Amino acid sequence: MTALDVVTAADGVHLATGQDANWILLTDGDGVTLVDTGYPRYVGAVLESLRRIGRRPEDVRAILLTHAHIDHIGGAAHFASTYGTPVLTSDTEARHARREYLEQTPPSVLLSHVATRGMIPWSLRIVRAGALQRGAVGDADGFDAVTGVDPDGPLDLPGSPTPIASPGHTSGHTAYLLRDTGVLISGDALVTAHALSRDVGPQLLPPMFAHDAPAEFAVLDVFADLAVDTLLPGHGPMHRGEIGAAVARAQDLRDA
Ligand SMILES: [Zn+2]
Repeated sequence: MTALDVVTAADGVHLATGQDANWILLTDGDGVTLVDTGYPRYVGAVLESLRRIGRRPEDVRAILLTHAHIDHIGGAAHFASTYGTPVLTSDTEARHARREYLEQTPPSVLLSHVATRGMIPWSLRIVRAGALQRGAVGDADGFDAVTGVDPDGPLDLPGSPTPIASPGHTSGHTAYLLRDTGVLISGDALVTAHALSRDVGPQLLPPMFAHDAPAEFAVLDVFADLAVDTLLPGHGPMHRGEIGAAVARAQDLRDA
């Protein structure tokens, strides 16, 4: 099982950190909303994270996806097929999750960056974690498990997350705002660390991972206008602090 750390960001808001990807657990009573699910072979760690917060996999009311990359969608098919858990994301990203199209950095592009510090050990780790699996949700079982959410939110799910369209990293990438606690679940639109980055703190992922890097950059201005002081990213630790400063830091790093 991957390394696992679970920290509580606010009442009913928990960030789970696997070795190379995060997921978030939102609780309300017995119910849980699971935001993202790590790599395919992180399923054991996702189940363990539920146990640590005193919940069972049957308590998961829905899985929300920030986007359908394999390091975020990896456990979704397991929950959908084992427990019938609905899997939700934006309409566009739902098509991505069904693998009607794929916007994932191909291995050939990763290989062209083989000299990047950390690339080889990271690549070996993610392959072991299931990175080369297709990751589609729904098709193998013949049911349409992934559907689009109401983009206006807040959603009637534990944590009452409000979807924030944040296209760029992928076309349908969606962040989730928790208005009551000032938390932004930013997915890969704004992260705080990555195995291929030397830097810890708010930042964009390396441009090779973006489907549309200018759009990804523009989304930072959307985030800057949100009433947020806690960032729970798809990669890296929780960040506390004024969102405007976090965004400015990420913009400065990309400009540099
Ligand atoms: Zn990711």
